[in-house]
Amino acid sequence: MSRSARYALAVAIIGVATMLRMVLSRSIGPDFPFATYYIGVTVAVWVCGTAPSIMACLLGYIGAEYFFYGGPAIAADPVAVLMYFAVTFAIIGVGRSMLHAKRRIDASMAEAKRRNHECEQEIGRRQRVEQELDAAKQTLADYTHTLEEQVAERTEKLTQTVKSLEGFCYSIAHDLRTPIRAMQGYAIVLAEECALNAPAKEYTRKISDSACRMDQLVQDLLAYGRLTHEPVALSAVDVESVLDQLLSHMQDETHDAQVSVLRPLPKVLAQPTILTQALGNLIRNALKFVKPGTMPNIYIRAEELPYSIRICIDDNGIGIDQQYHDKIFNVFERLHHPEEYPGTGIGLAIVKKGVERLGGRVGLNSMPGKGSCFWIELEKAGAAVGKVVNGATNKMLSQAS
Ligand code: ADP
Repeated sequence: MSRSARYALAVAIIGVATMLRMVLSRSIGPDFPFATYYIGVTVAVWVCGTAPSIMACLLGYIGAEYFFYGGPAIAADPVAVLMYFAVTFAIIGVGRSMLHAKRRIDASMAEAKRRNHECEQEIGRRQRVEQELDAAKQTLADYTHTLEEQVAERTEKLTQTVKSLEGFCYSIAHDLRTPIRAMQGYAIVLAEECALNAPAKEYTRKISDSACRMDQLVQDLLAYGRLTHEPVALSAVDVESVLDQLLSHMQDETHDAQVSVLRPLPKVLAQPTILTQALGNLIRNALKFVKPGTMPNIYIRAEELPYSIRICIDDNGIGIDQQYHDKIFNVFERLHHPEEYPGTGIGLAIVKKGVERLGGRVGLNSMPGKGSCFWIELEKAGAAVGKVVNGATNKMLSQAS
């Protein structure tokens, strides 16, 4: 309500009080001229506020003086006038306080209502977000599921393709050996049984050597192929007896070298043929990659690690620069020309593939001119015997990392 409306209403209330008092005059006579003005001021303070109610109080006094006393009321009835002002001001004071209290209560209730509304909106918003989140989670789960299915399907296809390619290479390599051997054999017969002049003899020797190298390459490829697709059964293998047998077979190759073995050597979880092949390749490299005129000095030992055994082959060879330490385990990676150090570049790839199939790892420590230490890590035999290969791999890798 506007300020002027509140004053107008106060005037109207006093008007109504005056009329009421006039009506009452018929029954109560001229006594209590202020009676209805008390009520008027009370209503005015409650409905119109403090200032309009003070104005109503004064108007009530003027009305009583004019309509009911017919002259100055203070002179006619000073007690009634004083009492009127005392009571109406008390009513205005109490009314004012009550009005303020009511306003505060109204304001608090409005604030509470506003907050309640905000809370309801927030709850609604959160419910909507939760629903959206659930829907997103569901979509994500669906995508993940589809993706997993696709990955599994493609991995399966890829594995099949790799297997058939490996099988294909393996049979090609196998079939290549027959003509190579024939070439080699006929070159030897030609050199020995035909009367060839010196240059022709030299050419046939070169043919025979080349056929020999090609046969070695095919044999290495076959060995590598076998490792990739043949099943591997693990058992406890005595490294010492594998090494003894290997060294006795390699006597022709090692008679000009110093080979020492630190005994006893432990048992590991492996497959004897693969372990023999891996150790044989490492020992042959240690015999081969020495400076011309240097006697190879090879030292074989084993270190016990928490979950595995590390078999180390130390040599006094030419050593390998750090940048090639990973590379040399790839197929056909060679650091030297065949004229300098002959070879096919598959030996270390065979070692790596074989050891991985046994659930182990290979590595080396080496510096140019300081020799090399190639190592193979395999799971200890014993408690682990009979376990699945993957289990062995996981345990070792976690320990090694
Ligand atoms: P290959 O012996 O037929 O050349 P490998 O795969 O066995 O093939 O070795 C790859 C390369 O790693 C070798 O050509 C050689 O350069 C290097 N290498 C391997 N073993 C040793 C070693 N004990 N000392 C120095 N270099 C080595």
